[in-house]
Amino acid sequence: MAYQALYRVWRPQTFSDVIGQDVITQTLRNAVASHMTSHAYLFSGPRGTGKTSCAKILAKAVNCLNPHDGEPCNECEICKAANENRLNDVIEIDAASNNGVEEIRDIRDKVKYAPTEAQFKVYIIDEVHMLSQGAFNALLKTLEEPPENVMFILATTEPQKIPATIISRTQSFNFRRISRQDILTRMEFILNDKKIEYDEEALNIIAASAEGGMRDALSILDQALSYGDDSLTLKNAQEVTGALSNEQIVSYMTAIADNKPAEALTSLYQILASGRSALRFTEMIIRVCRNLILYNSNSDLSKQMDNSVMTKELLAISDKFDNQRLFYIVDQVSATQKNLKNSNQTDIYMEILTVKISEPKIAKQALAAPTEVKNDSDNSQEFDKLRDEISHLQNEVKDLSNGVQVANPAPAKPKTHRRANTNARLNKTAIYKVLGSATKDDLAAARDIWPDLMSMLSITQRAMMKVAEPVAASSEGIVVAFDYAMWFEQVQDDSEFLKELSDNTSKLMKKDCQIVLVPKADWPKIRKEYIDNNIDLSNPDNVESKKETKKTDPTVDEAVKLFGEDIVDVKDD
Ligand SMILES: [Zn+2]
Repeated sequence: MAYQALYRVWRPQTFSDVIGQDVITQTLRNAVASHMTSHAYLFSGPRGTGKTSCAKILAKAVNCLNPHDGEPCNECEICKAANENRLNDVIEIDAASNNGVEEIRDIRDKVKYAPTEAQFKVYIIDEVHMLSQGAFNALLKTLEEPPENVMFILATTEPQKIPATIISRTQSFNFRRISRQDILTRMEFILNDKKIEYDEEALNIIAASAEGGMRDALSILDQALSYGDDSLTLKNAQEVTGALSNEQIVSYMTAIADNKPAEALTSLYQILASGRSALRFTEMIIRVCRNLILYNSNSDLSKQMDNSVMTKELLAISDKFDNQRLFYIVDQVSATQKNLKNSNQTDIYMEILTVKISEPKIAKQALAAPTEVKNDSDNSQEFDKLRDEISHLQNEVKDLSNGVQVANPAPAKPKTHRRANTNARLNKTAIYKVLGSATKDDLAAARDIWPDLMSMLSITQRAMMKVAEPVAASSEGIVVAFDYAMWFEQVQDDSEFLKELSDNTSKLMKKDCQIVLVPKADWPKIRKEYIDNNIDLSNPDNVESKKETKKTDPTVDEAVKLFGEDIVDVKDD
């Protein structure tokens, strides 16, 4: 018999077998037991956290002939057929390979036929975010009028790529990364069952590098076991986990060095999809940069290089970086680490970081000012500066490995230079024009098409636009606010991209619609300016009274109508 991967053999067959998702499995069990299941579910979360397993168990549980407390019996004909993947009424679709409209249309045609063997026909659509726009539209039609006895279970690692219209029609569950202890316990259980001897430290290393994904943990365990004769040694575990991360970091750093944001993003997605945490990955980038700086310095410092990090593949790309670029990367990574610690949108911050350090245009801008400084300074000053930076980096790496949060080292960077240009780029006339006839309905319509608009963009464009959202809209235009002034400037300067945005928006809205940009930090001020100007114009004799009138002021009422009560903030000057 062919060898079967551990994660297949040990796939959970009941809800109580599923590790680390107690709230979700309990809720699903209760729903099955009380016959209160929904007709559509969305399971989202990182790879290998139990989404597909739970989908299969749920499909079995609703159809089981002898369910017990919401659990499938795994003994009846239906359960057996499901476990052997021969139950025709459970249909699994991998959207990553079937992203066409045709496949979903096929579902639409067949969905109306009653299940043949079981009580419920269950469609499990894996990696549902990969569906094309047309396929999403077709799926939406089916979800809008679901036939009797049909259940959809959509699974995804990237819920942010799924149109809101789909999400709102599903019951949604977020699968969490599985704790290191839970992974450890499960691996011990499996190894004991298979009577395989193991080194405890080896298991620790595997659990750590799986970073919350049970499937990854078992895949790594599989690989490590294939090295040795039915025993798990520390050396094998190190080899398997080390090899994985080196290959990934080399491909990522090569794309950065070659100024290829799209490739760098692809590499990033692979790293995140393999279950690595964003924070651990940033620590690795800093460690690599530190070592590249030491290596490039061609001095005694290079003796301090950490040879376990600097593989020959990394040394081979060292001359693609100068130290200035490496310092810039470290700055950006450190700044990102702070955001990562306070956010649950870590993937987005990693995308922004990746584009920032790999876009030749941005990197060049940011490096422009220090280059001028460098021309004025003599060699010994330069050397002192380098030493300072390196000792700073060394402390930082030390702090990181101790788990201490470090402050952003941020040597002087041309932030002021960029900041000054923001106002010059701002197109207030266009913004005011939208505000002049903005309505809440238009804003709702703009937010509605937003996910579709994003799906029309290239990978790099999408990463830039991820930190932007519509904040006001009229029938002819949409004001889009950016979380970061830097991205606002990037897009504002790119007239071709801006036109593409407006064109695509017009297509989706089926009417001419202009996209106007604003940095989010400036948005409240601009909005207030507009409202104030409106008061002056509409009631020039009564400017004084606006300080007392507050909410009864008709212009404020107007603003509340446009933006909603929660965001109109009336302040006394
Ligand atoms: Zn059963």
